[in-house]
Amino acid sequence: MFIDTHAHIFEESIKLDNVNLNDILAIIVPSYNKENLGRTLLYCKQSPKFLPALGIHPQYCHQFTHETQNFIKSHINEIVAVGEIGLDTRFDNFESQIPPFVEQMQLAYKHNLPVSVHLIGERAFDVFFEVYKSYPVKTALHCFSGSAQNAERALNLDIYLSFACNITYKANVVLRKIAEFTPLNRILLETDSPSMLPASFMRKGTNTPQNIHFVAQKITEIKKVDIEEVANITTQNAIELFNLKEKLC
Ligand SMILES: [Zn+2]
Repeated sequence: MFIDTHAHIFEESIKLDNVNLNDILAIIVPSYNKENLGRTLLYCKQSPKFLPALGIHPQYCHQFTHETQNFIKSHINEIVAVGEIGLDTRFDNFESQIPPFVEQMQLAYKHNLPVSVHLIGERAFDVFFEVYKSYPVKTALHCFSGSAQNAERALNLDIYLSFACNITYKANVVLRKIAEFTPLNRILLETDSPSMLPASFMRKGTNTPQNIHFVAQKITEIKKVDIEEVANITTQNAIELFNLKEKLC
């Protein structure tokens, strides 16, 4: 059984009716903007396997207003994590991403919730590690795509690295090297559905949580262990990080 630790399955492009979720124990479903905060909660009511997270993504940091903050705060007991939050140097609003990020880390810290964090760019990692000193919450670095050095920095802080389908991309040698030195007990699996298709799909179609198998298979090859071990340990990691013991058993 697998846990997909990051999938936006509320997106209309995903037709889960056609997707076999028998070997998916749970899916963490993070919001990313104002529009889908409510949709995330509503969507997750469909199945006990769907576990919501609420947060505002750096691309939409201007939407981190009193209104959205109050929404997140008023539903804090319904969520398993604060996310998707983060920092991304590809957007030209980098400086204005920082205060909403800090506040959402603070919120998670106050409520003892883990965070699902999107980090792109050297400076994003630097700011994250700085903020983490004040708010050392349990963290999943979702769709990890940083340098080996930043992976090591995170692992030294007991932070989990979440690997997505980009680990199957031929050119992504660095990411496979990182997975090689990351202990299995710090690895999470995710699909980041509906984006980030596995390499074999040749960019055609919509990603779904079923494709977690492609990520697990790649980790199996890299770590030279069997797939059951990858499934068992990464699922335990997710249960531990997101406090799912009582929710799932
Ligand atoms: Zn995402």
